[in-house]
Amino acid sequence: MVEIRSVRKSFGSHEVLRGIDLEVRTGEVTVVLGPSGSGKSTLLRTVNHLEKVDSGRITVDGKLVGYRRSGDKLYELREREVLRQRTQIGFVFQNFHLFPHLTVLENITEAPVSALKRPRAEAVAAAHTLLERVGLAEKAGAYPGHLSGGQQQRVAIARALALEPKLLLFDEPTSALDPELVGEVLDVIKDLARQGTTMIVVTHEIGFAREAADTVVFMDEGVVVEQGPPAEVLDRPRQERTRAFLSKVL
Ligand code: ATP
Ligand code: MG
Repeated sequence: MVEIRSVRKSFGSHEVLRGIDLEVRTGEVTVVLGPSGSGKSTLLRTVNHLEKVDSGRITVDGKLVGYRRSGDKLYELREREVLRQRTQIGFVFQNFHLFPHLTVLENITEAPVSALKRPRAEAVAAAHTLLERVGLAEKAGAYPGHLSGGQQQRVAIARALALEPKLLLFDEPTSALDPELVGEVLDVIKDLARQGTTMIVVTHEIGFAREAADTVVFMDEGVVVEQGPPAEVLDRPRQERTRAFLSKVL
């Protein structure tokens, strides 16, 4: 589903991604771990072209992200095409990013109606189903400001799902939450994993990684240091840098 090949990205003279190779198969969950500044968010953002790569390429479901090929040349997609491509790749942020002036229901139906031109009644019905799925059926009319962080994040997940994306990206979805609210959000993500949703999840929740990940990737200083099944990377890491990191977060 996702192929990341030799991806490099610099900000000024600082090379943040230094040749990343990564593959995510359909229906699988990849958890990305790594110290602050190792390039996790930047990598995630390149997957839906919120950041442009300097070199290398990314494909999602066989389609180049952000570019089209013509002969042996690559041309950058136009803004409209990038936006359309992005509707197929859901992104859930650390700080929810809900529209504060829209109700929960309106937050969820906004993109399907305006970007995908779905009939409103259809989008509303789908939104109610999604709200049930994330355990918030009774909050359709509430404004985000009146919800807990955990509830807001579950709305953000429902909003991402409303576009029926092929792939979901999560950037530290629980790190802004009070500890007692982390579980309810992770439960929703675990549920999605069980249903075969293809996901890349940046998180420091090792328990979640152990339970839900098919593959754990450890990044440091812009490279993938180690990757494999959770039981290998988390319990029998081969690299010293992985061991040092895990000893701090476990
Ligand atoms: P954290 O765990 O703190 O979220 P991270 O692994 O997600 O860290 P990134 O956010 O990808 O790390 O950042 C990697 C490096 O790139 C950092 O040194 C950061 O300061 C730098 N960086 C990220 N975005 C930009 C930007 N838009 N302009 C300049 N530098 C940036
Ligand atoms: Mg980050």
